[in-house]
Amino acid sequence: MGRIIVVVVDGMGDRPIDGKTPLQYANTPNIDLLCREGITGQMNTITPGIVPGSDTGHLAIFGYDPYKTYPGRGVFEALGAGIKLEEGDVAFRCNLATVDEKLNVVDRRAGRIKDGKKIVEEIDGMEINGVEIILKSTTEHRCSLVLRGENLSNKISDVDPHSETKIWKSKALENTHEARRTADIINKLVEESYKILKDHPINKEREKEGKLPANILLPRGAGKYVEIESIKEKWGFKASCIAGGALYKGVARYLGASIIDVRGATGRLDTNLHAKVDAALKSAEQYEYTFLHIKGCDNASHDGDFRAKAEMISRIDEEVVSKLIDFDGYVLITADHSTPVFVKRHTSDPVPILFHGEDVRRDSVELFDEISVVHGGLGTLRGIDLMPIVSDYIGYYKMYGS
Ligand code: ZN
Ligand code: ZN
Repeated sequence: MGRIIVVVVDGMGDRPIDGKTPLQYANTPNIDLLCREGITGQMNTITPGIVPGSDTGHLAIFGYDPYKTYPGRGVFEALGAGIKLEEGDVAFRCNLATVDEKLNVVDRRAGRIKDGKKIVEEIDGMEINGVEIILKSTTEHRCSLVLRGENLSNKISDVDPHSETKIWKSKALENTHEARRTADIINKLVEESYKILKDHPINKEREKEGKLPANILLPRGAGKYVEIESIKEKWGFKASCIAGGALYKGVARYLGASIIDVRGATGRLDTNLHAKVDAALKSAEQYEYTFLHIKGCDNASHDGDFRAKAEMISRIDEEVVSKLIDFDGYVLITADHSTPVFVKRHTSDPVPILFHGEDVRRDSVELFDEISVVHGGLGTLRGIDLMPIVSDYIGYYKMYGS
């Protein structure tokens, strides 16, 4: 059976500025070498015109229809934070934030608080209306919140107003007892968090030092956990995931892939690419499918930083792809969506794909970029088409008919 390393460069796809995209501008001799020997194409990760989130985009790349299997962002964040979820749990992304006494948001990130862990302990383990509250601090002001109990729903709106204004009240988004009950629990929890945290010694100390207090929880992105078919069950092979960001680990964990933690994998521009690619090569000795996620380009894109994005692509070429050239297996390079630096958000522009392996058909495309791959042999695919193609090459094909 064959092996594959799938490199997803988050948000790599772009639009030209002064005639060139960052991928065209970057120095990519190794990627272009694989391009000349391989096959290319482009991909609408969800469907044409639909802007992919990183979460839904990844589900599609792993071969899962995002419209049928997306459980809501909170679930991936909780799994990525290492919380073991149970069927029926409702999970949220959550910020520790600063509000004034009228509950107007002063800072959604509580001054990017560093010691969020101790504050979170005050609330973790609470019970509201018979529902257990699980709260885990992840990085800085970010935490993951899980409600565990009977009759819960994720069809509720956010408390986080996403800007510096009065906090929102969570509302039921469907006319069910479960949705109303869950919104009610969330509103009570937010109220309680303010009561508990506003006079907390850590916050008193922070205020004395002139820092913003972390005096409220702002949940958002409710998701409901249901168990789904794992990659092994659905596709037949073992998969591993190497990523810095919790979200990507969360998606992979949701699909039953093994998470390989790498020191120095930060999910930022300063990530340790050498360590990540070494871990990927090692993983490929054991797993048929190794997923290597690199986040930095998306961060640079959201900041509108063309140069930083192009430099990151050049680094990926030099530090990652150079080591994949002699890999005895298949290599696939793509992105989960486009994040044009000019737009600073995800867009629906298709992303380039490059697929390389000894017996892979070659096309005539010589440069790997958004414009050249339009002429590639894979044509234009959807995200969920990728996994069947990969599976066939590595020997886990699905046949229709006889
Ligand atoms: Zn993304
Ligand atoms: Zn993004």
